[in-house]
Amino acid sequence: MSGRPWTKEEDRALLDGAGVFSINWFRKKAGPTDTYPTAPNRSRGAIYRRAERILGKGGLTRGTSTLLQASVDTGYAREQILRAQRACNQKWKRLSPRGPYLITFEQLDEMIGWLLQDYWCKTLRLYGCVNCGDSDRPSRGKGLCPRCYFKTRRVSRSFRVPWCRGALINLVQELDETRAEVRVIRDHLERGWGLTEDQIKALKAI
Ligand SMILES: [Zn+2]
Repeated sequence: MSGRPWTKEEDRALLDGAGVFSINWFRKKAGPTDTYPTAPNRSRGAIYRRAERILGKGGLTRGTSTLLQASVDTGYAREQILRAQRACNQKWKRLSPRGPYLITFEQLDEMIGWLLQDYWCKTLRLYGCVNCGDSDRPSRGKGLCPRCYFKTRRVSRSFRVPWCRGALINLVQELDETRAEVRVIRDHLERGWGLTEDQIKALKAI
C-alpha cells in the first residue's frame, strides 16, 4: 500500500462518484497529484478499501443494485428488467468491464414505473406468455404467444383434453380440488389464461 495520504479531492471523487463511475474512472481521479507528482496510480484494492472507509458498507457500489439484487428486491424477472432498461434507454455502469451492473436506485425507480404499466397482454395483465414466458411477439390469445397457442392446441388435441375454455371449466369442476395441480389449473382458467403444456398433460393424467 502506498504511504501517500488521500487528498480531499480524491475523497470527494469517491463520495460524488460512488455508484455512478467505473473503477478506471476512480483510478484516473486518484492519480499522481501536484504534491506527489511521481506517485504511482493507486491500486484497485487501495481504492476499494478507501471507499469502504469513507462511504461505509457497500463502498463504491453504494446506492446501486446489481441486476440480481434488483430482481430479488422488485420481484420482476431479469428479462423484464432488461426489457425495461431498453424501453427507458438506460445505460448501466459497471465497476469493471466484466463486473456486475450497478443500477442506481433512480434507474430502478424509473424502470419499476415503466414495468407497472407495461403489460405484454393488457387485457389479461400478463408480462409474458403463460406457457413459455416470451414477450417478443404479441399475444395470440388466452395469454399465449403465437407459437404456444398453436402448440398447446395441438397437445390438447393429441391428449384428448378440451381446448375450449367452457369445456375445460366443466371438466375441472368435477376434479378433486384438494389437489394442488387442480387448483392451479382452475386459477389459470378463471383468469382467462390458456393452459400450459404441462397442465394439459397433468389433466390427462388426473
Ligand atoms: Zn409462448
